[in-house]
Amino acid sequence: MKTIGLIGGMSWESTIPYYSIINTYVKEHLGGLHSAKIVLFSVEFDEIEKCQSSGQWEKSGAILADAAKKLEMAGADMILICTNTMHKVFNQVQSAVKIPLIHIADATADVLKKDNIGTVGLLGTRYTMTQDFYKNRLIHQGLNVIIPEPDDIDHVNDIIFKELCLGQIKAASRNEFSRIIAKLKSRGAEAVILGCTEIGLLVTSESSELKIYDTTVIHATRAAELAFEV
Ligand code: GLU
Repeated sequence: MKTIGLIGGMSWESTIPYYSIINTYVKEHLGGLHSAKIVLFSVEFDEIEKCQSSGQWEKSGAILADAAKKLEMAGADMILICTNTMHKVFNQVQSAVKIPLIHIADATADVLKKDNIGTVGLLGTRYTMTQDFYKNRLIHQGLNVIIPEPDDIDHVNDIIFKELCLGQIKAASRNEFSRIIAKLKSRGAEAVILGCTEIGLLVTSESSELKIYDTTVIHATRAAELAFEV
């Protein structure tokens, strides 16, 4: 079994599901006392968030590249950046190590294509929804991507940083997401990507009119599958 390296802590609330999803996968496949080989480097999110909001992406990339090198030295065979947003610096981090990084948007696009989804709604941080680094990766795989209207982009971004990253799960915010997802549906989305690793803590299949594709679940599962590949 290969060792999975996680760069987590962005936020730590969403790193917990990674640990649990990967181990649950191993338990389901091997049973008994089997568990996954995982190395976690959990960063200080306040430092990263300050880099994001001040546009110092290179500096945040250097922090993650340093974490990646430490995971490689600790024996990781692959690395996951446990946040969609920080895939903005994917290339910078990948170039710091020899082991492969598993891209969260590629893993997600693979699952969507397998399910024959052509047009998809995208929810995430403002960076993920409005900038090209993430959407282009999906478009490149043949998907049409719809993002919420400007007011709703602000709203989703606020709920992520002011509630979900702080571990606050509120019914009123779940209702807001339901409303925003319904709007994406009316504009032609066939499914919705939870393109922020905390959204799955709030939005459930029951609360969404569209089929949800939770990037945390998809990313963690992909790593677990790869850990068994020879
Ligand atoms: N975890 C979130 C994501 O998947 C947001 C936190 C961050 O800005 O990294 O994008």
